[in-house]
Amino acid sequence: MITLSHIVKRFGQATILNDISLTLPERSVTALVGPSGGGKSTLLRSINLLEQPTSGTVQIGAHAIEFAPNRKVAFSEVQKIRSETGMVFQNFQLFPHRTAIENVMEGLITVQKWSKGKAKARALELLEKVGMAHKADAWPAELSGGQQQRVAIARALAPSPKVLLCDEPTSALDPELAGEVVDVLSRLASEGTTMVIATHDLRLASKIAGQVVFLEAGQVVETGSAEQIFRDPQRERTRRFVSSIS
Ligand code: ATP
Ligand code: MG
Repeated sequence: MITLSHIVKRFGQATILNDISLTLPERSVTALVGPSGGGKSTLLRSINLLEQPTSGTVQIGAHAIEFAPNRKVAFSEVQKIRSETGMVFQNFQLFPHRTAIENVMEGLITVQKWSKGKAKARALELLEKVGMAHKADAWPAELSGGQQQRVAIARALAPSPKVLLCDEPTSALDPELAGEVVDVLSRLASEGTTMVIATHDLRLASKIAGQVVFLEAGQVVETGSAEQIFRDPQRERTRRFVSSIS
């Protein structure tokens, strides 16, 4: 289980996340939705600690860190939390000078210190899972955006993270290629992968998210099932947002 308690993030004078508390049960999929600048990416980055919260507690499984102003957190503690997460970005961010399979193997070899043979077997298994085994030896530049994103998903899953964090995983893709990625994420969801997905893609959110969190100005406006948030939002602000994008 992942628990965020009273997360506050300030950049200088600006409060970007304002007292966010969320529980993400194991095997659940949570979609973060809301207007641009609402704090979705910052919240995702606060889970893997690419951004350290100004205050609040982040807990993933047995690892918890309490943040407070002027309290220095040891890097080894940050690493423990980060190693429980995998991240997928809008623009894929594959290593351009590594083939698809090498992209998936890289972290296993350099961070996890796996042997090349073991890493290769694991990478191939993951490429199969995302339907990309036939392109194992292709360079990123030879792949479509949807294919690159599927390789990026395999890479993020390689070290068996407790949670897969996806920041706008389909928004750089045309609808057909986005559909391929939605299908892969949907399959992972049905296999019980815990995920948090920041997205403007309502099709993605309604297809796979059990829980939808509507964020605006760094605050949770409303949380509910996809059905509730998209069909019967309780707050006027959520209603306006949903009708503007559907
Ligand atoms: P989008 O839908 O456009 O991706 P978002 O909901 O992901 O938006 P964030 O990227 O989390 O929003 O940004 C939230 C706010 O935090 C914005 O006002 C942004 O300008 C600000 N912000 C993000 N990163 C930084 C930073 N490193 N320094 C200062 N302000 C930042
Ligand atoms: Mg964002």
